[in-house]
Amino acid sequence: MKTIIAKILCYTAWPALLAFGLVLSGIGMVLGKPLLFFNIAYFTVITAILLLERFMPFEYQWQEHDHETPAHLLHTLSSKGTVQGLLLFGGIIGLTELITPVSVPSASIWPREWPMFLQVILGLISAEFMLYWAHRLAHEHDLIWRFHAVHHSVKKLWVINTGRFHFLESTFKIVFALSLLVVLGAPFEVVQWISVFTAFIGLLTHCNIDVKTGFLSYIFNTPNLHRWHHSMDLREGNKNYGENLVLWDMLFGTYFNEHWRRPPAEIGIHDYMPPRFLDQILYPFRRAHYQEMGGDPARKESSL
Ligand SMILES: [Zn+2]
Ligand SMILES: [Zn+2]
Repeated sequence: MKTIIAKILCYTAWPALLAFGLVLSGIGMVLGKPLLFFNIAYFTVITAILLLERFMPFEYQWQEHDHETPAHLLHTLSSKGTVQGLLLFGGIIGLTELITPVSVPSASIWPREWPMFLQVILGLISAEFMLYWAHRLAHEHDLIWRFHAVHHSVKKLWVINTGRFHFLESTFKIVFALSLLVVLGAPFEVVQWISVFTAFIGLLTHCNIDVKTGFLSYIFNTPNLHRWHHSMDLREGNKNYGENLVLWDMLFGTYFNEHWRRPPAEIGIHDYMPPRFLDQILYPFRRAHYQEMGGDPARKESSL
């Protein structure tokens, strides 16, 4: 009985949890209570993932404690807090008014007459272009890699370290992605949908659940793709930069999906990353960086 349920969940858990999060958040938007419904959906999905990680893990060894849960949670809080504070502060100091003229309907090239569903797809593809390059630059340029290394230093993947990003990297990424949408004049509702979509896809990319994502891995960023991205082998790790979609990875030649074999269970970076949150925040400013993961793979391989 347990195996039948596990087999069904194996194929349905990923799309079902994503759909649940999107539908409940959508209901919240219609009812005018977006934040409340989003939070209910968000914490329900986290709880469901934690349970599934317990009963049907992808890697059993990732169930062991890494003693870094406080750091994971503090990074998640500081990243999300900074982004929300920035939006609030932007309103207070008048940044919103400054950029509003760009996004008023008359001055915008955004196709507001399209059905919302198509506008959201267009928004996702546009934002994804910026997210793709922000992520790829973080791997190919030493200065940005120092910040991104905080994320890649994890030794296991699970839902709790999905938001482990240096808060300065998260801020840079969100400003980068939003700038294009603002210039194009995307309405707030589209930005809202993209934020919701990114939040749920993000929760699911790190989940340690044995899920089969099949053809979905040719459209969306899934845990099966993201596990390769955490590989210490640069031929696998410097791939799959997409945040939500894989379109730009496919177009720019960084899509990697060897689904017939398992990605490595041993993940991380070659450099030493201190385990404490504050030391990790200071890490990009302190160390003479031993650039093993970031940077151009060909350059690294030829120097071995
Ligand atoms: Zn990365
Ligand atoms: Zn990751």
